[in-house]
Amino acid sequence: MRLKYHPILRFERGKEVTIYFEGKPVKAYEGETIAMALHAAGVRVFDYSVNKNRPRGLFCAIGKCSSCLMIVNGVPNVRTCITLVEDGMRVERQKGRARLPAEAKPPEFREPKVVSADIVIIGGGPAGLMAAINAADAGAKVVLLDENPRLGGQLIKQTHKFFGKREQFAGVRGVEIARILEDEARKRENIEIFLETSAVGIFQDGEEKIVLGVRKNKELLEFRGRALVVATGAMERMIPFENNDLPGIYGAGAIQTLMNTYGVKPGDRVLIVGAGNVGLILAYQLIQAGVDVKAIVEAMPKVGGYFVHAAKVRRLGVPILTRHTILRAEGKERVERAVVAQLDDNWRLIPGTEKTFDVDVIALAVGLRPSIELLHQAGCQIKFVRELGGHVAVRDPWMETTVRGIFVAGDTAGIEEATTAMLEGKIAGIAAALRLGIANESWLKEIEKAQRDLDEFRSGPFGKHVAEGIRKLLAEVGGNA
Ligand SMILES: Cc1cc2nc3c(=O)[nH]c(=O)nc-3n(C[C@H](O)[C@H](O)[C@H](O)COP(=O)(O)OP(=O)(O)OC[C@H]3O[C@@H](n4cnc5c(N)ncnc54)[C@H](O)[C@@H]3O)c2cc1C
Repeated sequence: MRLKYHPILRFERGKEVTIYFEGKPVKAYEGETIAMALHAAGVRVFDYSVNKNRPRGLFCAIGKCSSCLMIVNGVPNVRTCITLVEDGMRVERQKGRARLPAEAKPPEFREPKVVSADIVIIGGGPAGLMAAINAADAGAKVVLLDENPRLGGQLIKQTHKFFGKREQFAGVRGVEIARILEDEARKRENIEIFLETSAVGIFQDGEEKIVLGVRKNKELLEFRGRALVVATGAMERMIPFENNDLPGIYGAGAIQTLMNTYGVKPGDRVLIVGAGNVGLILAYQLIQAGVDVKAIVEAMPKVGGYFVHAAKVRRLGVPILTRHTILRAEGKERVERAVVAQLDDNWRLIPGTEKTFDVDVIALAVGLRPSIELLHQAGCQIKFVRELGGHVAVRDPWMETTVRGIFVAGDTAGIEEATTAMLEGKIAGIAAALRLGIANESWLKEIEKAQRDLDEFRSGPFGKHVAEGIRKLLAEVGGNA
């Protein structure tokens, strides 16, 4: 199930190692996560649910859900999608509620290691990286943490070329943009980077903000700074249908992680739910990886994504069934079939229109919602704004939330695109440095320029509703768009 050839990507695999899944050896490569290695070996069931003992498999592949929790070296509840393999590792399925091993002793309490900077940035996607680069250039000492093993956020799996302006990487593939931003961040001496490090809480100590971090599930760290940028991205939405928890049902981003980041084929025959840009791009990328895409179903009367993407997918022979939805997934321990049906103008199912697709993968490309948990916990005012994808933090035009010194950027601030995430990251990074009195006033021009670029970007047909959502947020703080 590992891809040997890809028209665009080359997979540089690390040294071969062996992990043990329920006692049986499984070949893996250094640099890949446990979930990817197991998937490549054909394992689909990762754990069984707590109450009904239902099989569960990989769903988000970026550490945001609980579908891939397993017991690793005796430790339960390990997120195997973001934990790297190590030679000799023992991995077992978790059945029901996890228990600590009988021989486990309470850990010895040790003071967490303290890492101090002017600005702490949570999330190393396009928003967090741009915040770090700009804050560092404005003179701030920055620490950047990300819970995934690689920098770049969602960009590391996007093989298509971006639209927009040249200065915002138009014509460059997402994977390449991630590489450029990572190189830029790494060459600045005033940026310190911590990977495989999850932020688990935000606290205030006098003038300082504290971000509590856990590195590699083992080490406790305390990141201290006078300002904070939260750029934790988004998570995939789920929709209700029968058996929507069967292994083999993934968020679209998880399928991209499997095939584009780790070179693992997600399956052989796929049904995609959702014909927005993400669903359309995913169909094309699956075909590039040699996977048969049976159809895309879309509940709306017309395709939501760009015409150019839809035309390309149709040319490749993939039917797009508008006014259709998924009714159920069928299969014993993994997806074996998907049943879809047509909807009438009042969103009711039309009896007798059911169609069955013989598939082993169902990809849900039904949207994202902002990851605001840390902002909520930190006491930032939260508001539901439909146009921004759900609950978001109220913030001003400089991306500062209602808690002074806590800034937000990217999908966490409202679901949009990598291009806007980078511009918001730039604003948040500079604004944080200005707020601390580190950046001089000449940086104001950079903020104004980024704001103009955002306005221009959002004036198009796809950006108008986002602009409306932002107006609602700014109304809360009395700011202008
Ligand atoms: C299939 C697909 C196709 C797309 N195509 C395009 C396109 O063509 N053009 C475009 O502009 N955009 C595109 N996008 C959207 C774009 O990828 C996102 O809008 C963008 O990546 C958002 O950037 P971000 O930095 O806000 O979040 P992300 O890229 O999601 O990065 C967030 C980072 O935060 C880290 N993180 C989260 N929580 C924690 C925590 N508690 N502790 C530490 N780290 C944490 C994550 O590990 C992650 O690395 C696409 C998205 C998808 C899914």
